[in-house]
Amino acid sequence: MSSAAISASSLALPTASSDGVPSGSDYSPRYIDIGINLADPIFRGRYHGKQRHPDDLAGVVQRSCDVGCSKLIVTGSSFKSSRDALKLAQQFPNTVYTTAGIHPCSSAIFERNHKRHHEADEVDDAEDGTEEHTPACGPDPTKPHAEDGDVDLAKSAQIIADLRTLVETAPSTALVALGEMGLDYDRLHYCSASTQRHAFAAQLKLVASLAESGKPLPLFLHSRACHADFVRLLKDQFGPKLETLPRGAVVHSFTGSIAEAEELMDLGLYLGVNGCSLKTVENCEVVKAIRLDRLMIETDGPWCEVRPTHEGWSYLVKAAESARTKAKEAEEVRKAAEKAAEDAAREAAAKEAAEQAAKAAADGTAGSEPTSNGRPPRPPRQKKQNNNANNNNNKKKEPAVPDRFKVVKKEKWEEGAMVKGRNEPCTIERIATIVAGIKGLTVEEVCEAAWANTVKVFGTE
Ligand SMILES: [Zn+2]
Repeated sequence: MSSAAISASSLALPTASSDGVPSGSDYSPRYIDIGINLADPIFRGRYHGKQRHPDDLAGVVQRSCDVGCSKLIVTGSSFKSSRDALKLAQQFPNTVYTTAGIHPCSSAIFERNHKRHHEADEVDDAEDGTEEHTPACGPDPTKPHAEDGDVDLAKSAQIIADLRTLVETAPSTALVALGEMGLDYDRLHYCSASTQRHAFAAQLKLVASLAESGKPLPLFLHSRACHADFVRLLKDQFGPKLETLPRGAVVHSFTGSIAEAEELMDLGLYLGVNGCSLKTVENCEVVKAIRLDRLMIETDGPWCEVRPTHEGWSYLVKAAESARTKAKEAEEVRKAAEKAAEDAAREAAAKEAAEQAAKAAADGTAGSEPTSNGRPPRPPRQKKQNNNANNNNNKKKEPAVPDRFKVVKKEKWEEGAMVKGRNEPCTIERIATIVAGIKGLTVEEVCEAAWANTVKVFGTE
């Protein structure tokens, strides 16, 4: 499917929302997914180096547009994914935007003994094929930590020079931020902490240098279990209040504490919330503390989906319940109005028949056919509508949180369906619904705030 063919109107829009997002009201939610790893081969049907089902990227983008998520900022987390993301931006102009940077988990390329060239394709040459994917969120306690890395300064200079070229030659309409960059001390098996710090500091220096040469860009940052070092490196480069940070930054997939969130917000940074930010009661307390004028939302697909075991899920259940109650109430109002109309029609018909009978008696035209029981004829009853909503005895029980789109296992892939376990940008409405529930706000308030913040920082409108 060509990019031009991607539009919400080319598919039938779903009429009911699964998550309690207002669907009959005047407001249509609009979303920008600020962190989606759409360059991951999983969105082409490739899992761990093997083609498991047809390339359904166009379907993924279509479903996203169908829920109102018409802007996707695709994360570049390595040279390859940054370049692939730029190709996607060409394929889906005005829908796909990109970032370019080296993720902390991909920062082993800065080390002397790292085997492959930093621009090498990350395809199929890892024994288990896992290297092809963007690193999943979350620690893996089974993996040993990398030794303190021996950073190769010549290599580092070359990587930064190549990244600069990539950024300077990318169309500015597509490339809207630098990153993903930062620190991740939960996943030291990919890259040691010392190498991560080097890679982050080197990229921050590039950010400042690009700004000086007339290319100031906002930052897409990653910070996991490393808050103090993360803030220190930012301040080292941009000053104690980040006063020389060229165009702001978002710390995506935020999972830190309330105190950390407050420190970052006070430094003028934005916080990105996805399913990983909504796992526990504590996570949700932190989200409650994120100010609306600092909030952005994201899916981080194919990772970070909201699962039934997560605290955030309970807000989806509540929203779905309230949507069902509202639908039921609306149905009752509709039925009452229908009954009132029927009664009025019957009354009018009876009155008319009585008048006719009286007139006939007065005219002496008795003998005209009476009704069998001598009473005026009954008006025709309106045909009763076959109401499916009341006829659900043999229907399957609706899940507590209905799926907006059909979900199938990858082995049973079918056109138009989502793949179980592969998070997609269309699920961003769940993030907005949960954040709204946590904060006691409407989905509209959350969506509009996140939209405005994102447009302000990334210029994606
Ligand atoms: Zn990240």
